[in-house]
Amino acid sequence: MIMCDGKMSSGDYEDIWDIVKKSVQISRQEFDELVEKIYSKARNFLTKRAAAMIVARNLGVDTSQIAYTPIVGRLLEVGPVKKSKSASGETPYVLFTVVNEEERIPCVAFGEHHVSLLRQSEDKVLMIRKYTKAKLRKYTLVKVTENSIIEILDDSKLPPITDLKPAWADSLKFMKENRGAWLVKVLVIDESTTEYFACPICGKSMELQDSEWVCPEHGDVEPEVEKVWRYVVSDRSGTFPAVYFKDPPEPSLLDRLVVLKGYFRDDELYISKIYWVSEKEAITFGE
Ligand SMILES: [Zn+2]
Repeated sequence: MIMCDGKMSSGDYEDIWDIVKKSVQISRQEFDELVEKIYSKARNFLTKRAAAMIVARNLGVDTSQIAYTPIVGRLLEVGPVKKSKSASGETPYVLFTVVNEEERIPCVAFGEHHVSLLRQSEDKVLMIRKYTKAKLRKYTLVKVTENSIIEILDDSKLPPITDLKPAWADSLKFMKENRGAWLVKVLVIDESTTEYFACPICGKSMELQDSEWVCPEHGDVEPEVEKVWRYVVSDRSGTFPAVYFKDPPEPSLLDRLVVLKGYFRDDELYISKIYWVSEKEAITFGE
């Protein structure tokens, strides 16, 4: 079951106070007293949080922002941009996942603004407000509509992503069997690099057609030479081929332990980020 209450308990109303103090001239003490007054009148039917919502509403604050408590989490992954068609035209959307100390939260965001914000905010701390929920067959998604608010918070609001347990896969095998991006610690046991022609606009691999290099999307453009790194990575659950399209943090990762983020596509691990590389080879031969 997905809980979407982030880290807040039912008694907590800091987020409501944050909204109230921005829109009404009132001291914290006055606000707390009003909350206490409402709460004491109907404590069988209210949490302090609910009482705070009533006070906020009575003060004329737009409480639609606080139906669900804000979600705070790091942006673990963002999927490719898709388009949903409606009477009013096409709206771009992306699936994404945020993670905090308690859970992974699957989400979907609609609209140009959110899509472009998310696509440049990997690993950042986000706060999501005014969202709704969308039920799929097996699970519930947090639905970020064009009216929802995504805010980038200061990085110190959450521990680094490598310290967030729900971001981690137990093993490579677990990762392969469970969709989505995960952090994992592996040993690199083979390494090679090949060059390929990439489209300078979208980075996609170009194809040879009638002895001309063309991008499947942009057609006839001047190709750029890009490198792809191919590894074989290993842990106690097995060995798996992996690819990485960026420059690794060390000239060679061979025989090193590596903490990475990636996801499986069929049998191949796509590495999206490398966080840590052991200083020395984990395995040495002879003396
Ligand atoms: Zn292209």
